[in-house]
Amino acid sequence: MTQFDLVIQNGTVVTATDTIRCDVGVKDGRISSLAERLTDAHEFVDADGMFVLPGGVDAHVHLDEPPFYGVLLNDSYETGTRAAAHGGTTTIISFAQQQKGRPLRESLDDYHAKADGNAVVDYGFHIILTDPSEQVANEEIPALIKDGYTSYKCFMTYDGYLDDGQILRTMEVAKREGAMVMIHAENEHCIRHMAKRFDDAGETSLGSFSKMAPMCVEREGTHRAISMSELIDVPILIVHVSGREAMDQIRWGQDRGLKIYGETCPQYLMFTDEVYDKEGWEGAKFLFAPPPRDAENPDALWRGIATGMFQVISSDHNAFQFDSTSGKKAGGSEPHFRQVAPGIPGIEARLALVFSEGVSRGRIDINTFVATTATNPAKIYGLYPRKGTIAVGADADIAIWDPEKRQTITHDLLHEEVDFTPYEGVEIKGWPIKVYSRGELIVSDGEFVGESGRGEFLRRNRINVQPAQGQPVRGN
Ligand SMILES: [Zn+2]
Repeated sequence: MTQFDLVIQNGTVVTATDTIRCDVGVKDGRISSLAERLTDAHEFVDADGMFVLPGGVDAHVHLDEPPFYGVLLNDSYETGTRAAAHGGTTTIISFAQQQKGRPLRESLDDYHAKADGNAVVDYGFHIILTDPSEQVANEEIPALIKDGYTSYKCFMTYDGYLDDGQILRTMEVAKREGAMVMIHAENEHCIRHMAKRFDDAGETSLGSFSKMAPMCVEREGTHRAISMSELIDVPILIVHVSGREAMDQIRWGQDRGLKIYGETCPQYLMFTDEVYDKEGWEGAKFLFAPPPRDAENPDALWRGIATGMFQVISSDHNAFQFDSTSGKKAGGSEPHFRQVAPGIPGIEARLALVFSEGVSRGRIDINTFVATTATNPAKIYGLYPRKGTIAVGADADIAIWDPEKRQTITHDLLHEEVDFTPYEGVEIKGWPIKVYSRGELIVSDGEFVGESGRGEFLRRNRINVQPAQGQPVRGN
């Protein structure tokens, strides 16, 4: 019997902390050895000149949810996770929405029916709370946390937004039972007020989308969420932070020793509000909430990543069709800032965009890239060390990454089941050439070679309270 099923030789293994030239031995789907030289394997793969990275963990993914703005997401669990795999992502955490008046467990069953036997990479669910009643908070959520559903998302905006009392109740149960609360931090009342003003004035072009929700609206929501987290003494994560004013609040909280995590997304690093100056419907390809900000903003976000203020970079993948009346154009014949479904696809290009714009351009080091796109989300959401790193005992989720491979992102290159990419024409350097999930080769040189439906549901651990990078540990 051979010692290893697979040995990846001669590559440069990168983790959140180390960059080491060594071989990786895989046995029974897990990493079983790291050493200068490994022999005695069933199969050898030469990774000379390549980075050997942990498969990406995308912790903010929307697949197959109910209609939003009357529009359905086009990616299924099968197509969405296949696209993720092509881009080097081997774990996703997607969202399961609570349906008011129905037990949470039943809502979750619906999502399992969509994902189980269809996903091709491993997956977990965050639960979007729309009605955190006393009964839900005290009975249903604790039972679900025991079963591995250890994170809960609260919206401060949109129709199903939670009020502060509901958010506090959610934070309390998260603290008691060991879960992570994710917050979409924007002030709904400010947005509604401004939207009405623009609508009344006939200023309905897509430019009003960013003007109705400027940075101060996100800053206020972020500060409020941080204050509630301080009050309850529970860690929280602010999702898709778009702007430097919200960043200032997170940094302020972290500097006070509060356990505040920040997530941003490639779209905030790549785009500014100039996208809404485009003619006709074109701007709808870039319509997502919160909106992209001014020209100085992307650099500020990169500094926040480089300095450890942001722990997580996710895609916030939403595959709404563009050129379709059942997609972004469902609201009418003219683009109207309040009628276009906000959200864009991005599950496949996430890693390449951050690598190319971040590492290849020298804005962040490669360990920070691995930390923010794999290791930290695994830690924050209770998947570490099974996911998110290259270590003995971890699942053999590995992306062999060619740092020199140059490509231009086009819709044709990608496998997302949607008719556009907002990243059309972006030139990138760096792309995964082989992707393994639990030791199985699933993508090889641009071809999906895995079995369909092979992804497994991940029961996640209760959330260990970990400090934001560089922050002292506080008792919980
Ligand atoms: Zn989202």
